[in-house]
Amino acid sequence: MNEGIIIKGVGGFYYVKAEDKVIECRARGVFRKNKITPLVGDRVQIRISDEDNTGYIEKIFERKSELIRPPVANVNHALFVFAVKHPNPNLWLLDRFLLLAMKQNLDVTICFNKIDLATEDEVRELSNIYIKAGYKVITSSKITRQGINKLKETLKDKITVLAGPSGVGKSTLLNNIQPNLQLKTGEISKKTKRGKHTTRYAELLELDFGGWVVDTPGFSSLDIDFVEIEDLDSYFKDICRHSVNCKFNSCRHNKEPNCGVKEAVEKGEISRSRYENYLMFLEELEKIRRY
Ligand code: GDP
Ligand code: ZN
Repeated sequence: MNEGIIIKGVGGFYYVKAEDKVIECRARGVFRKNKITPLVGDRVQIRISDEDNTGYIEKIFERKSELIRPPVANVNHALFVFAVKHPNPNLWLLDRFLLLAMKQNLDVTICFNKIDLATEDEVRELSNIYIKAGYKVITSSKITRQGINKLKETLKDKITVLAGPSGVGKSTLLNNIQPNLQLKTGEISKKTKRGKHTTRYAELLELDFGGWVVDTPGFSSLDIDFVEIEDLDSYFKDICRHSVNCKFNSCRHNKEPNCGVKEAVEKGEISRSRYENYLMFLEELEKIRRY
């Protein structure tokens, strides 16, 4: 028996990286009977046949996490990439990503790329919003090659999913981290001739210094309707920290008096953009729930 990780799955075949080799495997019938589908990212036990070097998946170890889109098991880290300019950073989208990552219990790194296009002050101001909110922030540039080593450190030994708008430099970054890492474009063709979405298979790309990157960008669904209104603030670490100072237990930090969060925003302890995005998400959830 060997242990490995599924790095790719195509039409009933699973490619398992085990002891420096990739073995083509099938899943034992027992999985099908129990309606268990092996996922890319699953840690598995396989039995390799001596004859032809193919194998069977005998056991799937317990999943630590399960992403739906792309369908990958055991992802434990999200790298969110935005450019400081060209395109301007969409912080509403970043805050949305952060919420979704927290829901999935993912470790998070934020990367602000293309810092060669902005002044130091601009870069600092942007980074500080998220450092203050308690996140790890790396600034990078393909021109100055800043940030590459820090990115390697943060990717090491994790299974990472990348996300970020197109054009921010995700592919370029990956290529600078390791030249053979190819990110598939995130674009789902809007319509195939039959009007269906094309299926996307995820694959794991191996980092030579240890760790894996999912080859398709994550978080294509931005739905947040799983969030209960009274829990929304708990998804914003910075806002949550100050909500202990609110007069009302059920404070939504919007129109209520004596709100610790609003006071912290006034004092600059919570960044305004974070608070404004919180309010936008709140309004969105209130609309859904029609409270
Ligand atoms: P992706 O869509 O996120 O994968 O972005 P790409 O890696 O394809 O990069 C989009 C464009 O931005 C390309 O023209 C890159 O050459 C350019 N680019 C990427 N990184 C940087 C950077 O650090 N600085 C500058 N000035 N341009 C960059
Ligand atoms: Zn409040």
